[in-house]
Amino acid sequence: MVIHFISDLHLADDTPELTRLFLSSLQSWQDRIDVLYILGDLFEYWVGDDDDSAYLEAPLAAMREFSRHTPLYVMHGNRDFLMGPDFEERSGATLLPDPTLIDTTAGRFLLSHGDALCRDDAAYQQFRAMSRNPDWQRAMLARPLAERHAIARQARAQSEMAKRQHGLTAISDVTEDAALALLAEHDWPTLIHGHTHRPARHLHVAGERRAERWVIQDWHGSAGGYLRLDENGLSAHAL
Ligand code: MN
Repeated sequence: MVIHFISDLHLADDTPELTRLFLSSLQSWQDRIDVLYILGDLFEYWVGDDDDSAYLEAPLAAMREFSRHTPLYVMHGNRDFLMGPDFEERSGATLLPDPTLIDTTAGRFLLSHGDALCRDDAAYQQFRAMSRNPDWQRAMLARPLAERHAIARQARAQSEMAKRQHGLTAISDVTEDAALALLAEHDWPTLIHGHTHRPARHLHVAGERRAERWVIQDWHGSAGGYLRLDENGLSAHAL
């Protein structure tokens, strides 16, 4: 059994190197792994399943080809949460709820994007609650495609500016309380998530109970990474 986990590729029209890295990774993993999980923010933004932008063609076609041989699962991130049934059709991937618990021969693993655990960011949590509401999503998707692109460009420019001004602190981190509550709720599986751009392996302890939390590396520039789960457990690798 070999399972790979990736997240936060943030593919966009101006990230051709990351798109190439994604395509070559899919090709090299094809038939060599049993499952691939993409745990959110595969795309820098997703304005709707009807988006016909040229840069989406190659990754979606590669995913469709990959999924013909290997199960491919995708979770929403905080950027691409509008992915829906037609995305599944176009990519061959199956969308997963956040969180999702998987049972493997190497143990139980709880998969999440991670943004729901960043409880200190009250403004973001408010936006998250609003933007996951089906009515809000319907209203957003009813806008013309060009208008949705303009909204996404504006949101992206704001987030780029915050990152330039504040560095990594612009992306909030998982709080200890949120991690412990989620682990307890699911009887202490190993937690795997992305989102924070702070790749690490943490240990959470509460009384007699303990669980690891692995944070997946984000992709940027021309580099990325992935977690591998096999008989020996989890390990982190660079791409
Ligand atoms: Mn994210």
